[in-house]
Amino acid sequence: MNTALSTRDWHSRAGEIKYATGHFIDGEHVAGKKGASFTVTNPATGAPLCEVAAGTAEDVNRAVASCKQSFKAGVWRYMAPRDRLAVLSRLAQLIDANAERFALLDTLCMGKPVRDMLASDVPAAVQTFAYFAELSDKIDGAVTSTAVDAFHYILREPLGVVGCIVPWNYPLLMASWKVAPALAAGNSVVLKPAEQSPLSALLLGELFIEAGGPPGVLNVVNGLGEAAGAALALHADVAKIAFTGSTEIGKLMLVYAGQSNMKRVSLECGGKSPQIFLADLEDLDRAVTYAINGIYGNMGEVCNAGSRLLIDKPIAEAFVARFIERGKGAYRAGDPLDPETNLGPLVTAQHRSRVLDYIGKGKKDGARLEFGGDTPALPGSYVNPTLFSGVTNTMTIAREEIFGPVASAIVVNGLEDALRIANDSIYGLAASVWTRDLTTAHKAVRGLEAGVIWVNCFDHGDMTQPFGGYKQSGQGRDKCLESLLGYTQTKSAWIHLG
Ligand code: NAD
Repeated sequence: MNTALSTRDWHSRAGEIKYATGHFIDGEHVAGKKGASFTVTNPATGAPLCEVAAGTAEDVNRAVASCKQSFKAGVWRYMAPRDRLAVLSRLAQLIDANAERFALLDTLCMGKPVRDMLASDVPAAVQTFAYFAELSDKIDGAVTSTAVDAFHYILREPLGVVGCIVPWNYPLLMASWKVAPALAAGNSVVLKPAEQSPLSALLLGELFIEAGGPPGVLNVVNGLGEAAGAALALHADVAKIAFTGSTEIGKLMLVYAGQSNMKRVSLECGGKSPQIFLADLEDLDRAVTYAINGIYGNMGEVCNAGSRLLIDKPIAEAFVARFIERGKGAYRAGDPLDPETNLGPLVTAQHRSRVLDYIGKGKKDGARLEFGGDTPALPGSYVNPTLFSGVTNTMTIAREEIFGPVASAIVVNGLEDALRIANDSIYGLAASVWTRDLTTAHKAVRGLEAGVIWVNCFDHGDMTQPFGGYKQSGQGRDKCLESLLGYTQTKSAWIHLG
C-alpha cells in the first residue's frame, strides 16, 4: 500500500480514476433499465463528481433473479467450503492491493480524510474478508443424542438471497461487515450502497469476480433508498435484509418484511453513546484524548460516536478545561485528499445544515458553547469540532443522534447517577466507563444498557468482537461468529432406524 503520496499525487490520481457508475449484475457492469440517474457530489468542493444509475424495481428484480438463479444452481453454496475460503481470501488480498482506489472512491464521495481510509477503513475491510473467509469451512452442524432407533442431525444451511443495505459513513467497511459473512455462509448477495457513496461497492463486486467468485453471487444495485432500497427490502425472493443505517429507516425494514414475505431482518442503527468519566479515573489526559477522538474522529459521523460525556462532579471542571485545551485544535478542517487532514467535510451540504440546526438548538436550550459551533472558510460542507458544556440529558442535543462533531458534557454525581443518565436514551449501541476500581467497572458493565462496553478505553475492538446495539440501536450483531450464524438457518433431519 502506498501511503507516501502527496496531496498533489492524490489529486492527480483522482483526476485519472475511472468510475463505474451503473449496477454490477451477473459479473458485469450494466446500465439501469430506465436510464435514470442521480448526481453524486464531492462534499469537499460542492462540485458534482458523477452521475450514477438510479436503480428501479426492475433493476432490483434483475439483480435478485440473478442471485436466485446462482443460489438454485449451487455454484457458490455447494462449492467446497475450502474453495469458497480461497475465493474470499483472494478477495481480501485484492482489496488490500486496491487500497488506493478504494480510498479515493470513498473519500471523493463522502469526504472522509484519505489517511483514515488507508489507516483504518481499508485494512479493516481486508480483515473482515480474511476473518470470514477463514470461517467458511468451519460452519458445522451437529449430531444430537437420540434413542438407538433414530439418528438425528442438524444441518446449517445458507438462507438464499440476502439483501444488504448500507450507509455512507464507512461505505466499504459497512458493506464488508454484511457481505463477507453472508458470502462465507454460502448465500448469494444483492448489495445496495448508500446513494451518497455508491462507487466502492461496484469495485468490490468487480474484485469478487477477479478473485474467482462466480457471476451472479454478488450483485450491486445502485439507487435511492425509497426506490431501489425499498424494492429490495420488499422483494419476495429475498430471504434476509441486513441493514445498517438510521433507526428511522431500520424500523421501515421491519414493516417491509411484514408487508412482503416475513424475511429475516438484522438491524444496526443509530446511537447516542455515553462515556462515563468517574472521579477515580487513573489518567485524566488519556481519558480526555479518548473523549476527543471518540467524538471528532470521522467528523462525528460514527454510529457509536461518544457524543455524551458524563463527567463526575469532582473532576468536571478540570476535565472540561483539559478537553478545551486539547480538543480545540486537535481536528483541523482541510482537503480530505491532503494526507495531513484529519477533519473532512460532512457528507452533504444538507447534512451540514442538519448538524448546524442541532448546534442552534443546543444554544437555545441553554447549553454553553465552549468552542466550535461554526464552519471554517472552506468551500465544502464542513463543521468545526464543537463542545457544549452545562448540558442536561433532557436537551435535544443529548437525546438525538446528531451525526456530526458535536460533544455534550453532562455533569453527574457518581456511578448510580451516571448509569441512570446513560441509560435514559432510546439508543443502546455502545458506552464506556473510566474508573480505577474493578468493582465499579464490573457494576457499570452490567448496569449499562448497550451492546458494546469499553472500560478505560473507547472504540477498541477486533473481528472477534460482536458489534451491535441494545434497544433502538438495532438487533443483530456484526463481526464475530454470531454474525455469520445469522446468515444461516438450521435444518433438523430425523432418520428412523427401527
Ligand atoms: P439511512 O437510514 O438514511 O440510509 C441507510 C441506507 O438505507 C442507505 O443505503 C439508504 O439508501 C437506504 N434507505 C433509505 N431510505 C430507505 C427506504 N425507504 N427503504 C429502503 N432503504 C432505504 O442512514 P445513513 O444516513 O445512510 O447513515 C447514517 C446512519 O447509519 C446513522 O443513524 C448511523 O448511526 C447509522 N449507522 C449505524 C451503524 C451500526 O453499526 N449500528 C454503523 C454505521 C452507521
